[in-house]
Amino acid sequence: MEKKELKTKHGNIQLPAFLPDATYGSIRTASFNDVKKAGINEIVSTTLHLEQKIGSQYIKKMEGLHKFLNWNRPILTDSGGWQVFSLINSNKGNKQNRITDLGCSFIDPASGDYSLLTPEGSIVIQANLGADIMTVLDDPIIGDASLKARKQSVELTTKWASRSKQKFDEIYNGSYKPYLGAVIQGADDKKMRKESAEQLLELDFDLYNFGGIPMYSDISWKKDFPTGFYREMLAYVSDLIPDNKYKYAMGVGQPEDIAYCVDAGWDIFDTVLPTRNARHGYLYVNEGQGNESKSYDSKRANKTLSYDIMHLRSERYKYDDSPVDETCDCECCRTVSRAYLRHLIRIKEPAGQRLCTIHNLAFYAKWMEQLRIKN
Ligand SMILES: [Zn+2]
Repeated sequence: MEKKELKTKHGNIQLPAFLPDATYGSIRTASFNDVKKAGINEIVSTTLHLEQKIGSQYIKKMEGLHKFLNWNRPILTDSGGWQVFSLINSNKGNKQNRITDLGCSFIDPASGDYSLLTPEGSIVIQANLGADIMTVLDDPIIGDASLKARKQSVELTTKWASRSKQKFDEIYNGSYKPYLGAVIQGADDKKMRKESAEQLLELDFDLYNFGGIPMYSDISWKKDFPTGFYREMLAYVSDLIPDNKYKYAMGVGQPEDIAYCVDAGWDIFDTVLPTRNARHGYLYVNEGQGNESKSYDSKRANKTLSYDIMHLRSERYKYDDSPVDETCDCECCRTVSRAYLRHLIRIKEPAGQRLCTIHNLAFYAKWMEQLRIKN
């Protein structure tokens, strides 16, 4: 039986779902009204960034993130684990940046303040925010980490998942419970991925997430890796998770990777790609509209799904007064020409970045629609 939706108290999430990243409680350059009009129904927000920039206690006082943002649709929060991992790895020289059994300690490079993020603390922050779907703190590692590091990461991730769940059950001891997801680690090692999945399945979470380096089929973090590697690993990990659990492919990805992962059984996706690329004039458009073609033979959609990339900064659009995508009815495509938008992007004008963001989100929303099971 295929899962079609995930019910939250802020509405149902139609599956498979793509969630854009509202890192600091905002999709950069766009308003939430823009985001809704683009067809987006749910967002991801970043626990650690919100805690550091404004504080979850403050947001709790403001009656939660939904009310604060005036976003009355589902919100998924991450655990902060990935941000801490990135912070620690980019500031290895600082001895206060380290992972222990207790949690992650680190110096915030912006404020210089010492912070400790524990598994329990991450759950408390996410509860203060009032997330509909939460994520337990994990210990991510890079793909080719040593066997010792892989083992440690899997072990610690399970320990922290267990402590997180305990804290979660303490906070939510009544009839209402948000969803809670655990993150499967194990890097590039199938055996370790299996161990991680088995240990976390014993703890019985609602969601199981693919942890580690996000996968982009055309941007490999490790140059000598075959492109298909992550696809194979994602399919392998999906098969380790029973189908009655929700499967969240964190950080995936390009439209064709999402379509692949849907075929492999994954339900939920988040990536900064459409919004970040939009701000650089890298647009996702329907077939025949852009200057670089992509396609994927989708089992779920039962057809070949195709789209084009448009590099809007290119000289070829300088005198082009047609809309970005003739077949799209978003605000961007209804109101401005490629030539004008190209000008705005070239001078980094926020008004242009906003319109491109709206278009890319509308493209992703429609892409997901094609991958949903029709009644
Ligand atoms: Zn459009």
